[in-house]
Amino acid sequence: MPLEEMPSVSPQFVHAVEWAMTQARQSQDETVRFMVSYIPIYAQYRPTRAQAVAGGCPTCTYLGLWADAWPGYEPAKHGLIFLFEEGIRSMGGALREQVYATLIHEMDHALQRDHILHGVMEAKAAAMYRPYAPYVGCCGR
Ligand SMILES: [Zn+2]
Repeated sequence: MPLEEMPSVSPQFVHAVEWAMTQARQSQDETVRFMVSYIPIYAQYRPTRAQAVAGGCPTCTYLGLWADAWPGYEPAKHGLIFLFEEGIRSMGGALREQVYATLIHEMDHALQRDHILHGVMEAKAAAMYRPYAPYVGCCGR
C-alpha cells in the first residue's frame, strides 16, 4: 500500500509515542537513554507491504519495526524505529504502556539482541512483554 493511502495515526497514538519517548529519556538504563536520543522514531498506522516483507512476515500484524536503513528516510547511525498504531492497539491494554514496551523491544533489535537477551528491557516493560514471532528486525505476531 502506498504511503499516501495509509491511514493517519491518531493524535492519541502520537501522544502515546511522545509519552513512551519521555519515559525512555528518563530511564534508569543508560542504554535506553542513549538509544532514544540517537534513533529516529516514526509513528505509522501499519507497515507498508515492503516493510512487512522486509520484516520477514508479509501476513503478520506488526507492532513495530527496526530497520538499519529505509528508502526515503534519512540514514541514522543506529537505524530507524517504526511504531505501528494498528498492531499496538490490537494488543489491547494501556496504549502508552504498549507503545513503550514495543519501543524497548525495537531498541533491542537496534542492539542486535533480537529476542534473545532483552538486555535493555526494564522490569515494567518486561512484565508486559509478550512473545513475538522470531523475525529479525520485526515484530509481528
Ligand atoms: Zn522483534
